[in-house]
Amino acid sequence: MRKVPYDLIVIGSGPGGYSAAIRAGQYGLKTALVEKQPRLGGTCLLVGCIPTKSLLQTADVWQRFVHAADEGIQCDNPRLDYPKVKDRKDGIVTKHSKGVEMLLKRAKVDRFSGYATLQGGGKVEVKSDSGVQTVEAKNIIVATGSEARMLPGLEADPAFILTNVEILNLTEVPKRLAIIGAGAVGAEFASIFHRFGTQVTLIEMLPRIVPVEDEDISKELERNFRKQKLRVETGARAENIRKTGHSVQLTLTTRDGKQEELEVEKLLVAVGRKPNTEKIGLENTKVELDRGFIKVDQNQQTAEPGVYAIGDVVAGTPQLAHVATREGMIAVAHIAGKPAIPINKNRIPGCTYTEPGIGSVGLTEAQARAQGYQVKVGRFPFAGNSRATILGHHEGFVKVVADERYGEILGVHIIGPEGFELIGEAVAAMEAEATVELMMQTIHAHPTLYEAVGEAFNAVYGLSINA
Ligand SMILES: Cc1cc2nc3c(=O)[nH]c(=O)nc-3n(C[C@H](O)[C@H](O)[C@H](O)COP(=O)(O)OP(=O)(O)OC[C@H]3O[C@@H](n4cnc5c(N)ncnc54)[C@H](O)[C@@H]3O)c2cc1C
Repeated sequence: MRKVPYDLIVIGSGPGGYSAAIRAGQYGLKTALVEKQPRLGGTCLLVGCIPTKSLLQTADVWQRFVHAADEGIQCDNPRLDYPKVKDRKDGIVTKHSKGVEMLLKRAKVDRFSGYATLQGGGKVEVKSDSGVQTVEAKNIIVATGSEARMLPGLEADPAFILTNVEILNLTEVPKRLAIIGAGAVGAEFASIFHRFGTQVTLIEMLPRIVPVEDEDISKELERNFRKQKLRVETGARAENIRKTGHSVQLTLTTRDGKQEELEVEKLLVAVGRKPNTEKIGLENTKVELDRGFIKVDQNQQTAEPGVYAIGDVVAGTPQLAHVATREGMIAVAHIAGKPAIPINKNRIPGCTYTEPGIGSVGLTEAQARAQGYQVKVGRFPFAGNSRATILGHHEGFVKVVADERYGEILGVHIIGPEGFELIGEAVAAMEAEATVELMMQTIHAHPTLYEAVGEAFNAVYGLSINA
């Protein structure tokens, strides 16, 4: 039999690709990773999860300074040095990108720099400034991720029409910013720049913001944004978008049909992400697509033998970093002949790092009812949680959606301080198939934010103490 140099080639170094390559190295597979960008880490590390959370952290600190007097601290004339804020963010990204490089080296993964295209039959062509070479492996993982979708007729530019890439490179805080799309990405940038002092208009075509969340969560975030004086327009349309040379103008049609001319310094388009499945040679394989996303089985295998797909390119799973990583683990385990537990779509946490923050897992109340469960809901407000009051963030609640028959936990939805951290308990509980009763008996330390989660489990049976 002909000897193939690699057991595995991974295309893409995002959280899906780099984690898969490291795990493959740990399993002793001879592995190569191809990345077209000079730096490793993909969308998540370079222009997604990490830089946005760095800015969100600074926005939190800045708000503390602005409202320091509420806590008895006189802090005269605090100033925001945005170039320094950006430097800090860039430093965090660089540190972790180098970390990925080091981890890949330690796992003995060979790195190829260049643009990869599948050639069929286990071959991958890598094109770079220094030439073209073909690498061959028994298995290939496609982890090419996604990029921002643009509105028809518009093109991103660094000065006016921005995506997540350009907005992260701004060197000053814009005075007026319109954001089209109020999913996690749009809502997070709104929460960042509003708190830095930008006049933000968040425009969403659907009837509610963060539309994948439980309806009560969307309502609570919208209520809080409005209370913070962040302008939210749901059921609205932005049309006739044009650049003037020094600003962007658009026609905003609000929910009640009223039209308004809006002029802003910058426009952020956050209308979803397009999978990178074009021009990567899939036509040379039997890989099947569903509206541009790659179809896979429960082991992440595509229709082409030996070709797997993970992360944002995959059809049917949410575009999240931890999903990409998990799918990578499943694909590599399958390649290495190790036990691979397929992803359970109902146990994928989703987090939005706004203020207040969101963490959710499992079915929403509406989904649980539509699926015929005898739904019982427990809800506990952070207003009844002493730690939340101490932190000065007592907005929001924890909502548990359970099945009355067996006390099964169907979903947990949190909006409030550190909601994105608190969801961890609910994910572990659901993964361990704990019942509501078991979680009611679980001792929660006092005073903590996660006591609110314990109280919400008690609230399913009307037994919460502090509300
Ligand atoms: C602003 C923003 C904030 C986000 N925040 C969060 C968050 O807080 N939590 C969360 O879970 N998710 C978040 N996401 C989503 C998350 O970034 C993605 O789900 C995740 O990065 C997907 O990982 P991936 O490995 O599939 O692909 P990616 O991270 O997109 O990486 C793909 C890599 O493949 C490379 N590549 C593509 N084509 C080729 C080719 N032909 N040859 C060689 N290399 C190629 C790319 O250069 C890239 O490095 C956010 C996204 C954005 C835009």
